[in-house]
Amino acid sequence: MQPLLTVGLLKKYFPLDRGMFSRTKAVVRAVDGVSFELQKGETLGLVGESGSGKTTVGRCILRLIKPTSGDVLFDNMNVTRLPASELKKLRRQMQIIFQDPYGCLTPRLRIRTILKEPLEIHGIGTKSDHTDIVVTVLRRVGLRPEHMNRFPHEFSGGQRQRIAIARTLMVNPELIIADEPVSALDVSIQAQIINLLVELQRELGLSYLLISHDLSVVHYMCDRIAVMYLGKIVEMTTRSDLYLNPLHPYTQALLSAIPEPNTGPKREKILLGGEVPSPINPPAGCSFHPRCNYKMETCTKVEPLLKGVGDSHWVSCHLR
Ligand code: SF4
Repeated sequence: MQPLLTVGLLKKYFPLDRGMFSRTKAVVRAVDGVSFELQKGETLGLVGESGSGKTTVGRCILRLIKPTSGDVLFDNMNVTRLPASELKKLRRQMQIIFQDPYGCLTPRLRIRTILKEPLEIHGIGTKSDHTDIVVTVLRRVGLRPEHMNRFPHEFSGGQRQRIAIARTLMVNPELIIADEPVSALDVSIQAQIINLLVELQRELGLSYLLISHDLSVVHYMCDRIAVMYLGKIVEMTTRSDLYLNPLHPYTQALLSAIPEPNTGPKREKILLGGEVPSPINPPAGCSFHPRCNYKMETCTKVEPLLKGVGDSHWVSCHLR
């Protein structure tokens, strides 16, 4: 089956301004050769610590920022090579939910105006249809029709995230990139929003790329999971395989830090030594070697490649 999304050797380097007299051109290697596929109706989780590059991957896919190199194929379109005039069509099919539901809603606009805006931009329906579409979508995300007359500040954080989700649904997208969609919410509200996203996927056949640092959220929502470290994917497999049989020492350490006992076998907490290296000057060989408890001499010299080690299980480590 043709994947809905194919990301191939995606790189995003940000140039660093070292001053006008500097001869060296430093770059931050935020994303450094990331490849994966996403099938229609699937949820793929991108996990990793802050600074691992997962958010930059999401923004490159949407062309909110231009990748340095690599390809993003969505529904047979090469997103990285689309002219600006074609991006509007693409944005209808791919939408994003941001972490901060308040920051992404214009405070001086009523909800009905916020929700009608995408319909107007993309020329969907007639003006007389718009209110009916707003009512339908508000109900779908668990809000009431009368909520359309209020302003964003009149809602709680969870309700604002429902409105942000409603706005993505207005254009009937195929893919939603959810960037830390619940991390700004109270724990008691997080489960409601996660359940809403799961229900919407079932009803509408949506595909999700879920970007999160929270392995419990990813475990609940995702079919497959890719673990990122310093701009690269270091392990990628199905949800159950990752939690039962993590192979990369970084994944093992991340999983050992999950407090909930219901996400797999009981694990000894693994403390990582060393500092997270700088993406400006990543270590030679395996970029995880300064923190790895299993480091060998070869790890400091030879970069391990992401290779298949079983059914749909990929890992980059010299031990495998
Ligand atoms: Fe650790 Fe070496 Fe594997 Fe890197 S390649 S994760 S340093 S054992």
